Amino acid sequence: MEIINKMNLKFWSKGENESFARLAVASFCSNISFDVEEISDIKTAVSEGVTNAIVHGYDGTMGEIEINCEVYSDHVKIEIIDLGKGIDDVEKALTPFFTTKPDKERSGMGFTVMEGFMDKMVVESALGKGTKVTLIKKIKK
Ligand code: ATP
Ligand code: MG
Repeated sequence: MEIINKMNLKFWSKGENESFARLAVASFCSNISFDVEEISDIKTAVSEGVTNAIVHGYDGTMGEIEINCEVYSDHVKIEIIDLGKGIDDVEKALTPFFTTKPDKERSGMGFTVMEGFMDKMVVESALGKGTKVTLIKKIKK
């Protein structure tokens, strides 16, 4: 399928960049025929993905987070990539309420939220190498 538009972002794993990333992706997607609710879904999903990269992937250390957006005629693909510590058991990590930081006000619902608010989510990860979360949102005609 042909790519209609594309955007790439790279930023440091600082907490304040979470709102920057969420708004940058929402702003990019505002040129697409999404309604307010769909843009809000995308913001929420990006927020969860970037927060995970900061809090879990880099765990307080500085590293680069990359976001790649590609627009196709019927969907948008958003990749959130970190080169942090990675996930040893992805299937387990996707389970609702599973968290490795139960003490730090984490509820273990980030992946569940991303999956629910988007049309598709794929998580690829390798221990010590990093994590890539791919999110798809369909464009209604
Ligand atoms: P919440 O998102 O509700 O605050 P959480 O971040 O623990 O809590 P999820 O977002 O569902 O919950 O993630 C589940 C678990 O997957 C995390 O606790 C963490 O162990 C692991 N994880 C998620 N994203 C990453 C990442 N980018 N790098 C390393 N581990 C991750
Ligand atoms: Mg999370």
